[in-house]
Amino acid sequence: MDELDFSMRAAREYAPDFDADERLRAAEPRRKMARDAALALLKQHKVTMPAVDVEALARACGLAVVFVEVEGKLSGQLYPDQREIVINTRGRSRERQRFTLAHELGHWRLTHHLSDMPLPADTLGYSGVFEQDSESEGRSAFEIEANTFASELLIPSPWIRKIAKPLSAGLPQQLAQTYDVSREAMFYQLMRCGRFT
Ligand SMILES: [Zn+2]
Repeated sequence: MDELDFSMRAAREYAPDFDADERLRAAEPRRKMARDAALALLKQHKVTMPAVDVEALARACGLAVVFVEVEGKLSGQLYPDQREIVINTRGRSRERQRFTLAHELGHWRLTHHLSDMPLPADTLGYSGVFEQDSESEGRSAFEIEANTFASELLIPSPWIRKIAKPLSAGLPQQLAQTYDVSREAMFYQLMRCGRFT
């Protein structure tokens, strides 16, 4: 047994409780779980081709979807108690609104609001701010999970993996249009699914 291994084991043995350890593990984003949840939702509602109607899916999940046009940083907000998602359309492209809606639906389907971990502001049901460039939001495990869910819901990897390589020059942009997502979101998923190698 090497020294590090020993000291870790010792620390574990003599720690009065395991809270810190467990919390750390729980704070790791569960990307596969988030992707599986998105694919299961598509399967459940027999969605087999793009563009995914994320608004219809949200409603099918029992959520009201409300579009507002307000100043400020709010892009989307889940109100779990009211079973409602609010989407801010002001200055935001349709593709971005769709991604935000899928993100909020991700929080709902992954039941982040039932967790005893600190919640991102956009799941609290009040004073929500969600901006992709906000550091603390972008890095929390729940935010990563919600984004992973959104990406997989709008651009399911099993569909993307069927696309033959090499991709022709204009194809990524064409796919972004077909899937009704931003070029950035499409590029990211194409990259993740190994379509550029
Ligand atoms: Zn969020």
